[in-house]
Amino acid sequence: MSMIDISSLQLEQLKEYITGLGAKPFVAGQIYRWLHQRGAQSFDEMTDISKSLREKLSQQRYITGLSIRKKQVSKDGTIKYLYQLSDGNCIETVLMRYQHGNSICVSSQVGCRMGCTFCASTQHGKVRDLAAGEILRQVYATEKDIGERVSNIVMMGIGEPLDNFDNAVAFIKIISSPQGKNISQRNISLSTCGIVPRIYQLAQLKLGITLSISLHATTTEKRKVTMPITNAYSVEELMQACRDYTKTTNRRISFEYSMIKGVNDTDEDAQRLARLLKGMISHVNLIPINPVDGSPYTQSDDAVIRAFQKKLQNLHVNATIRRRLGQDISAACGQLRNENR
Ligand code: SAH
Repeated sequence: MSMIDISSLQLEQLKEYITGLGAKPFVAGQIYRWLHQRGAQSFDEMTDISKSLREKLSQQRYITGLSIRKKQVSKDGTIKYLYQLSDGNCIETVLMRYQHGNSICVSSQVGCRMGCTFCASTQHGKVRDLAAGEILRQVYATEKDIGERVSNIVMMGIGEPLDNFDNAVAFIKIISSPQGKNISQRNISLSTCGIVPRIYQLAQLKLGITLSISLHATTTEKRKVTMPITNAYSVEELMQACRDYTKTTNRRISFEYSMIKGVNDTDEDAQRLARLLKGMISHVNLIPINPVDGSPYTQSDDAVIRAFQKKLQNLHVNATIRRRLGQDISAACGQLRNENR
């Protein structure tokens, strides 16, 4: 049997395990704080835990580790990390500096199997899911490296978080727990290409996070061309799931819309988008598509993007144009993973 990563366990699960070893429940709280508040990387560091228990723990469990393989700093201050996991696989994490604080973009899988034609992360398929501890470690290792706290998290790095549902949810619960980093769920966004049954499942959990939907097209036919997930779930089914999500959670949904020249940037697209969002509490993020090797797409012209935004606003849709950070180090959306295989 392979060893289990102790930092992937939620507090209740840790309690169960620790009491099973004959220790008091509060000891689980101590270990949890060592792992998630202080970022302990070994059981030896946990000096207020009895030596015999520490020995038992290190025989039965491990603490997953991350090491920096490469670090690139953009002229706008964005940092891209190439982190190596315990098994040698690599993932990327991006740290963005804003006036309101540090925001981190974490990966949820090694590679991705969703196959969106404009995205670099999926070009070689999925290798494996990340454990919750491996998503958490991206935050801890980055905070340690910069010597500052992270205040916002976006699950928009490599991978599809809803294709790694349980671990993504465990990550959110642990990172937002008072005995952990206590990062408010309000400051966490989860981005998905739209795995419809998982959106319904997520709604039931009533988390306080922001759900971001990568929409990028306004009809099922058009979306099938760039986003294969649309073969499984139509745009109509996706929008129904979004309406249901808002109804159940009372949370506003954010829609990502990459602007691709000649593909999805016409007046009719803007009109259709407004119609899809009619009556919903939503926000649209317009993202000029970033160039990715081997993909034929180019960005819509700035004037076209601004006109698209104006059109949406006239139709009472809340829309902003996303700032492009880290382009000089290929850290922008869709550019991760390519250079480091
Ligand atoms: N799998 C998730 C999260 C990772 S992608 C999802 O699909 O949402 C994060 C965001 O970057 C998504 O909105 C994705 O569609 C977008 N993206 C991917 N490639 C891009 C590119 N080349 N230019 C701009 N945005 C891109």
